[in-house]
Amino acid sequence: MAQHTVTLIPGDGIGTETTEAMKQVLAAAGADIEWEVAEAGAHLMESCGTPLPESTVDAVKRNKVAIKGPITTPVGTGFRSVNVALRKTLDLYVCLRPVFSIPGAGGRYSDVDLVIVRENSEDLYAGVEFEEGSAEAARLIDMCAESGAGAIRPDSGISIKPISVTASQNIVRYAFDYAVKHGRKKVTAVHKANIMKHSDGLFLRVAREVAQEYANTGIEFEDRIVDAFCMNLVIDPSQFDVIVFPNLYGDIASDLCAGLVGGLGIAPGANIGEDYAVFEAVHGSAPDIAGKNLANPTAEILSAAMMLDHLGELECAARVRRAVRTVYSEGAHLTADIRKATGSKLPACSCTEFTEALIEALDA
Ligand code: NAD
Repeated sequence: MAQHTVTLIPGDGIGTETTEAMKQVLAAAGADIEWEVAEAGAHLMESCGTPLPESTVDAVKRNKVAIKGPITTPVGTGFRSVNVALRKTLDLYVCLRPVFSIPGAGGRYSDVDLVIVRENSEDLYAGVEFEEGSAEAARLIDMCAESGAGAIRPDSGISIKPISVTASQNIVRYAFDYAVKHGRKKVTAVHKANIMKHSDGLFLRVAREVAQEYANTGIEFEDRIVDAFCMNLVIDPSQFDVIVFPNLYGDIASDLCAGLVGGLGIAPGANIGEDYAVFEAVHGSAPDIAGKNLANPTAEILSAAMMLDHLGELECAARVRRAVRTVYSEGAHLTADIRKATGSKLPACSCTEFTEALIEALDA
């Protein structure tokens, strides 16, 4: 019997390609994992009537650890994000995304070493929305006018931005606990409290209170307004360490940070709760390159390395990360996204060729 059973959700788009590459690399690295494959995604709508069957949620609950490929979400209409539903159902309140330079990956800087801690359960991602023209939207608009909160045009659609004390405490404590455990020096809370006083203002107040609880750890605390934060991040990412965000800013900053180190192809992540953990790359299903063997599987493979850490397989995780660094520093086998990021004219390799090179590098 394998030492670990992990739920594998391949997802759709490039997910089937990147998760297959990840499985091959972990097998070659000696990870003793039995995969329990569970499906999610738009392709299930016809057969199951839902993109997220109960059996898939049950599989994650049973094994407690899962790794997934990306899942397409229709834009503007159609079903809500499966990813958001999974995070909500399993109470995966932390989105953890380490961002680090990999020599040879074409990053704008050579020394990026940041950790994004993104709140994963509320904010504008909560999915509390009222359609333009609906009776509920009209009631809400009336209520805002009557209460003096403000005038909203009658032809508005409305998305609610809830930020709670509970979720803010949980995420900021997680950021500090992470900083303590990993020997980090500073936690930065990012917000727009100057404008949204009752949501971001609450987040900032709670962050300051929680920072007081950690005053004797020696970890510095600061806060930044999100727009100025973005500019400062691009100018000099080395001024940041652990960064804690409400949900939406964390989502946007994740892609911004990925851009600093070479792109979405190399940005890993994890969704973590008290009981379950689901690992996944930052990127989406990349419909523009899906099915063409062009995807860079590094982000999925580095997400798997985070999963190996979580499972206590630290040596195996380190071996995978070393092999990734070897392939990038040698530079002979790199996918098209990285060739573009580095400005290289050398031919790009396929997802399969990259995976083979990585497996070879495990023994280097
Ligand atoms: P995306 O991340 O899929 O793609 C953005 C760009 O980056 C594209 O040009 C794509 O080709 C490139 N890219 C992304 N990953 C890559 C990789 N591994 N290798 C090489 N190039 C890569 O973002 P999008 O186009 O905005 O979203 C597409 C779909 O994915 C949408 O339906 C969105 O909702 C969904 N999505 C899912 C998740 C998730 O499952 N966690 C996350 C983000 C987006």
